[in-house]
Amino acid sequence: MLEKLTAKNQRTKRHTQEYRKHFALNRNAAGFSKEMKEHIYTLVCDRAEGPYVYDLDGNAYIDLTLGFGSILFGHNYPPVRKAIEEQLTKSWSVGPISPLAGILAREIANVTGVERVAFFNSGTEAVMVALRLAKAVTRKNYIVFFKGAYHGTFDPLLTLKNDHASQLAKAIIPGVTQSTLNESYLLDYGSPESLEFIQKHQDEIAAVLVEPVQSRNPSFQPHEYLQELRQITAANNIALIFDEVITGFRIGIGGCQQHFGVTADIITYGKVIGGGLPIGIVAGKAKFLDATDGGFWQYGDDSVPTVKATFVAGTFCHHPLAMAAALKTVDIIKQNDGKVLKELNATTAAFCARLNAFFSANNYPVSVQHFASLFRFTTPGKLSLLYYLLLNNGVYIWEGRNCFLSPAHTPEVISALEEKIAISCRQLEEQGLMKRTTLQTN
Ligand code: PMP
Repeated sequence: MLEKLTAKNQRTKRHTQEYRKHFALNRNAAGFSKEMKEHIYTLVCDRAEGPYVYDLDGNAYIDLTLGFGSILFGHNYPPVRKAIEEQLTKSWSVGPISPLAGILAREIANVTGVERVAFFNSGTEAVMVALRLAKAVTRKNYIVFFKGAYHGTFDPLLTLKNDHASQLAKAIIPGVTQSTLNESYLLDYGSPESLEFIQKHQDEIAAVLVEPVQSRNPSFQPHEYLQELRQITAANNIALIFDEVITGFRIGIGGCQQHFGVTADIITYGKVIGGGLPIGIVAGKAKFLDATDGGFWQYGDDSVPTVKATFVAGTFCHHPLAMAAALKTVDIIKQNDGKVLKELNATTAAFCARLNAFFSANNYPVSVQHFASLFRFTTPGKLSLLYYLLLNNGVYIWEGRNCFLSPAHTPEVISALEEKIAISCRQLEEQGLMKRTTLQTN
């Protein structure tokens, strides 16, 4: 059955092979196994429109990857494209600051309730800066993060394991040395012991970094836990950092802060807000953001920057194209009290409910869980074949398996998608690769 896939993706495979020698791309070896070798490649696409991506062979796929969650409205969304094109005619240079950066900062502050906003190029960079600001302001060194979270590729967060006795993060990835992890505690998310640990180590902890709803486990939405984290951190001079790179401008315009009624000290945003262009944002309380520039002062009096600043910079920070796309994105999201998000999230909830009803009616050991417009399949063991069959049937899901819907996924597209999912399950079953079960799987 997968031979069909290979035939369908001939040009992607040929292209991948032709450039592999020079193009070092980890995604081209993701999940490598000898048995699956002929199917290990990442789709190569040169065109995207609405809910679809088109590969080099001209095949159309319903795209559930949506730029890893950075494309909120669907591909090539005309208003965002127009904003980028208009900016392109003026300048895409950095150096002098684009007037759009200040306007966007104020706009984000207005719609999310944060006090100040700083711009970077990626979620990783935003998280890195957020941690630096927390350390600079609290004058402490250690950070806490939680198992199951993904915060990008900053070294002090790059591990999945800890040392049981000390809870210190443990080096497991070549090149990420133990010394870079020696001031990082990796704790269990949602456990009361972690709260006790933070309390006990409050003298040394500068920041608790939390992905409020982890993209890898979206049905776990620990409302009270986040409130407890807020209390403990506030009482102990620890910065609470919400990593909202995925949830920000998705669950609602105020993100998880508003959704859970918890005000963090620092919030990182990325993806959606960039309208598909590279962006990373550090936002939050002036107390922390002032460590970027020394804080507020004005002309015409004797005020001066009063806060000792750390160092932040970057050639492409506040890139005018990203600023233009982001301004347009906020502008669209805020219309009618965040209607576009509310509708998209309701559509995703209904879609996931229908899928789960289908899986359970057929006793398929598969389910989907979701938060806002993010969803993930949960499959027992190694049912990764499901993703290959979905690809074969015209549904694109990237190797990390986070899936998203957009308003471009109209009811017609969604019903075609549901049909393709049903067909893929049936094919798996027919091939003896998936057995019906009456056991609960998640
Ligand atoms: N934080 C979270 C919660 C993320 O999901 C990601 C990326 N998926 C990042 C940070 C890193 O963002 P980027 O890939 O833009 O560096």
